[in-house]
Amino acid sequence: MSTAAAAAPDAAAPIVQLDGVRFRWRRKGPDILALDRLSVDRGERLFIEGPSGSGKSTLLGLLAGVTVPLAGRVQVLGETLSARSGPERDHFRADHIGYIFQQFNLIPYLGIIDNVVLPCRFSRLRRGRALARSSSLRAEAKRLLGHLDLAEPALLREAVTSLSVGQQQRVAAARALMGAPELIIADEPTSSLDADRRRAFVQLLFDECKATGATLIFVSHDASLEPLFDRTLRLAEANRAARLPG
Ligand code: ADP
Ligand code: MG
Repeated sequence: MSTAAAAAPDAAAPIVQLDGVRFRWRRKGPDILALDRLSVDRGERLFIEGPSGSGKSTLLGLLAGVTVPLAGRVQVLGETLSARSGPERDHFRADHIGYIFQQFNLIPYLGIIDNVVLPCRFSRLRRGRALARSSSLRAEAKRLLGHLDLAEPALLREAVTSLSVGQQQRVAAARALMGAPELIIADEPTSSLDADRRRAFVQLLFDECKATGATLIFVSHDASLEPLFDRTLRLAEANRAARLPG
C-alpha cells in the first residue's frame, strides 16, 4: 500500500478544502454538485443544511473520498484525495475519518463492543491511538460507550439488533469516534429521534469531538439544530448546480 495517503498529514492545513468541485453520478448526466470553495478549520463544527436531494450525502461522499469529482480538488488534512487511487482513499478514510451513517450500518452479527472496535481492525493508526488511551481496545470501546450512556454490562452483552434506535445511534457514534479520527462526518444521524434526544445526541458528539480536537461535519434537514453549530453551509445556495435551469 502506498505511501502518500499513509504519510503524516499536514498539521497546519485546513481540515477540509474543496476548490472548483464538480460532480455528477453519471458521465452524461447532470451536474449534481458545483461548489467553488469550501474550507473547514480544525475543531470547527459545521452544519450542512439542505432539502432532500440537494446533494448533502453526495458532498459527504466526496469529503470522505468514497467518490472523486469530475473536476476540481478535494483536500482533507492537506492530502489531495481527488488525486488518489481508490485503495489509497480507503486507507486514508480508515485512518482519519469517522463516519456516522443515517442507517448506522452496524454489523448485525458482531456484538456492541466488537462493532465499536471495528475501525481499529482497519487502521493501525487508530489502533495505536486507542491503545495510547486505554489498556485494551475493548477497554477503550467501553470508555467511549460509557460517555455515550451505554455503559451497563448487561446492555453491552445484547445483540446490536436488539437495541433501540437511539442506542444503535450511540453505538454508531462510538464506532466513529474510536481511535480519535481527525474528522467526524455524520449524515442525518438524528432523523429518527425526537427533538430532545436529537439535542442530547448532538451535545454528546460535541463533547467527544472537543476532547480529541476532532472536526465535526454534520448533515441534517432539521434546522432547529443549526444554532448549536459554529457555522452553517446552506447547500442549496452554495451549490451552483442546483441553480442551473432545467
Ligand atoms: P441529499 O443527501 O441532500 O438528500 P443526495 O446527495 O443523496 O441528496 O442526492 C443528490 C442527487 O443525486 C439526487 O438527485 C439523487 O437522486 C442523486 N443520487 C444520489 N446518490 C446517487 C447514486 N448512488 N447514483 C445515482 N444518483 C444518485
Ligand atoms: Mg442524504
